[in-house]
Amino acid sequence: MRDDICTIPISEVFEPKDGCPICRMRNTIESRMVEYILGAAMMEPDVRIKTNELGFCKDHLEMMMKGKNRLSLALILETHLDSVKNELFKKSFIKPSAKKTAYKAARIEETCFVCDRIQWGMERLIATTLRMYANESDFRRLFKDQECLCLPHYRLLMEEASNSMDKKRLSDFSADCNNLAEKYLSELTVDVNKFTKMFDYRNAGGETDEFDRAKDSIERAFAFLTSRGEM
Ligand SMILES: [Zn+2]
Ligand SMILES: [Zn+2]
Repeated sequence: MRDDICTIPISEVFEPKDGCPICRMRNTIESRMVEYILGAAMMEPDVRIKTNELGFCKDHLEMMMKGKNRLSLALILETHLDSVKNELFKKSFIKPSAKKTAYKAARIEETCFVCDRIQWGMERLIATTLRMYANESDFRRLFKDQECLCLPHYRLLMEEASNSMDKKRLSDFSADCNNLAEKYLSELTVDVNKFTKMFDYRNAGGETDEFDRAKDSIERAFAFLTSRGEM
């Protein structure tokens, strides 16, 4: 299995300063991984064994369905479905209990090869990010200058930092994280509030120009809360 897919230079992730940097990190690994599975990984038996066993979640199946490589997807699904059939419905002398079969079915539902690899890659990249923050003043500035953090990645950073950073750095780091998430949340709240008012003003035939920023505030709230979409 190729590990370099999950290797991205941290500065490349943080330099654009557009939206949540950790979303960018995840999106990069994710799209590379989906492309890899439908391409080069087709020829790698160890990857196929894993995709057969773990399968895919809804999000990642959808991403693969949007890709152009339908034949690759069909071949991957063919052997995965075979393995599901084998796992759940294999004829055996002793019949497994309903509870045991339900447990096996739940495992198939809950696991995803892409999620698994993203988590593997993110753990390493987040650890590097925290190390860079602790050791490099230039990177601390770059981190501080980010546009925002979405809620799931704010949580992830705070969680990981509290497990690994020394006290003094942790206090600076959490202050920076608070700042990035709170600033965005405050602006978002104002925009969502404007959005709710937009209807009144429209009904009253009022000016809508000042509500330009509010137009996509529901989509941005979705992205802030879920880490999916444009913030
Ligand atoms: Zn994010
Ligand atoms: Zn997944």
